[in-house]
Amino acid sequence: MIVTLPKCVSDVKFRTNINNRHSITQEPEIKITDLKVAIIGEAPVVRIQTDEGIDGIGAGESKKPFLKPHVEFYHDKIIGLDPTDIERVMLGIRRMGSFKPWGTAVSAIEMALWDIAGKSAGLPVYKLLGGKVRERVMVYNGGVRFELKGKEPEHYAETMQKMKEHPYKFRIIKHGVSFHGGMQNVDHGGMQDVQDFYYGSPVKAMRHPNRGVITGKGFKYMMKRIEAMLDVLGDDVGLALDCGPGMTVQDALKLAKELEGSNIMWLEDMITGDYTPWVLADLYTQVTPYTSTPIHTGEQIYLRQNFVELIERNAVNVLGPDVADVGGIAEMKFIAEYADLHGIQFAPHGLFNGLIGLAAQVHLAAVLPDNFIAFELPKVDPKWWYHIMEGDTFSVEDGHISVTDTPGLGVKFIPEETKKYLREEDKDFFNE
Ligand SMILES: [Mg+2]
Repeated sequence: MIVTLPKCVSDVKFRTNINNRHSITQEPEIKITDLKVAIIGEAPVVRIQTDEGIDGIGAGESKKPFLKPHVEFYHDKIIGLDPTDIERVMLGIRRMGSFKPWGTAVSAIEMALWDIAGKSAGLPVYKLLGGKVRERVMVYNGGVRFELKGKEPEHYAETMQKMKEHPYKFRIIKHGVSFHGGMQNVDHGGMQDVQDFYYGSPVKAMRHPNRGVITGKGFKYMMKRIEAMLDVLGDDVGLALDCGPGMTVQDALKLAKELEGSNIMWLEDMITGDYTPWVLADLYTQVTPYTSTPIHTGEQIYLRQNFVELIERNAVNVLGPDVADVGGIAEMKFIAEYADLHGIQFAPHGLFNGLIGLAAQVHLAAVLPDNFIAFELPKVDPKWWYHIMEGDTFSVEDGHISVTDTPGLGVKFIPEETKKYLREEDKDFFNE
């Protein structure tokens, strides 16, 4: 049968034989012809091309330029496959990934496949995921930051005031404290105003290596800054705190109990989390049932299987996987729905996912059950990203982004502008 696509997909026509699609030997009607990866800014960006002239894009976090060879590893494993049979393609590569940062390549490829499938069908990705249940999706503020001019409580209050007054009108704002906020004197440029935050020997190494028991002095230091931020936000805006990883069960419970009754949306990654290649659901079950403060984790976790224990044991109240680390859009959807069955809320991570990851989040958030709270608005850095891409999902109003109907992910590169920022070895990125 010949299907003529809507005008918005140009004049491409494709043939489909639904009855024969089950056969594994069936020659695909549309085939993947190339998988390219370019480092744009510092982000690994994927472009999958097809023999129908339709392409798809996906991206990983802007802090992962080292992943280029990892994306290239999957090249030969997907060439010749039908990109619109997304799950079949993913079955071939999904096992060859792991916890953050090693789930990024698989996730970015999955995103690009959805982009192709949407363009091929002439539909926005959210339609292929089951259709939207909301016209606009809420974001929480991770990406709009102002310089912290010092480390005193008033400096925390000042930056929080600016974020509260931002024209995006965020309803939830996240900030780092404890080990995630550099309070142990090592990470994030090294804070000099509190010594002995915890009983341990701080090490300076990549991605939150420190953990241990927080001192009495350290705990008071942290509480004063949290209280300053809560005072600014009041009842109007919820405060989410990114806390670890690295806190002990006892300190996690102590912090959660201290904050009961205040306008805290969640305490994120207190025990495990960012770049921790394991889950330890058992430890969260020693915290979550004993406090009314919501406990959150999940940004580093790869694949649904690794969420089973957290969900089935109600080890946390809120899950925050990252669409560019967990294995992709469909993986996120399954986890959110399974979490919903267990009364667990969903607030996805996405700080460094850029404008392509933002689009993926919008389509996903449009279809999720009511356990969806908000996803993290990415930091767009450098700002020239806004000049090299076109998209319907870039503007935030009243803390929300509207869901629009452009086929695929609804974002695309402006090649002539993008080429200014391509590295020499990536100059063929837009070649057909
Ligand atoms: Mg985090």
